[in-house]
This record gives sequence, C-alpha cells and structure tokens, in this order.
Amino acid sequence: MAETFWTETVDVYLYHFDEPFSHARHYIGSAKNVMERLAEHITGQGSKLMAAVVEAGIGFQIARTWKNVPRFHEAVLHRRNASPSICPICSGNGALNRGIYVPGKSIKPAARRRGK
Ligand SMILES: [Zn+2]
Repeated sequence: MAETFWTETVDVYLYHFDEPFSHARHYIGSAKNVMERLAEHITGQGSKLMAAVVEAGIGFQIARTWKNVPRFHEAVLHRRNASPSICPICSGNGALNRGIYVPGKSIKPAARRRGK
C-alpha cells in the first residue's frame, strides 16, 4: 500500500528563531531527514519563509522534534497555532508535555465556527 498523508511517518520539527521575523517566531515542518532539511534551509532552499529568515541574518535552532510520527501531526500542530506553548525554549520543559503525538487518539476535524 502506498504511503499517504495518513500513514506515512516523518520527523516533525520546530524551529525557534533568535528574534522574531515579521510576526513569526517559529517554523514547524516535517521531513524524512531533519538534518538534511536543516542543511537546505540554512542555504536558503526548501522554504520561502526560512530563506527570508536566513537572508535577514536571523539565527534559529531546532527547539524540538517529533520522531516517526504520521505526517498529519504537523498539520495538527499548525492548526493549534500554539507554537510558543509547545516550544521548550519559550515555555520551558513543560512544553514537552504539550503537542505530543498520541497514537490512536481521535483527530478532530478543523473546528467550525458556529453562527458566523
Ligand atoms: Zn520558542
């Protein structure tokens, strides 16, 4: 069976920027090989945002990784839009208890705003 968005596993990573870029302070991505992706980003490849961050001379670091999780976990983290709360650099080690991937936990579809 071909790997899909739902079955393929990747490593998801969270970058923390040394200083804000525009309003962004974090970048969440996923890759089969995080260190290869990092090498692309620091040479301005692979992501427009990261290319702009590098161009602006802003340093960044891998704050956290999620090893071997389904690709959709990246989307879950994006949707929570809570990067500071899951970033151990911003929020201390307590952040590591948040945003963890729990196998078998049901996934809620994107929240629908009622009455709007
Ligand atoms: Zn952070």
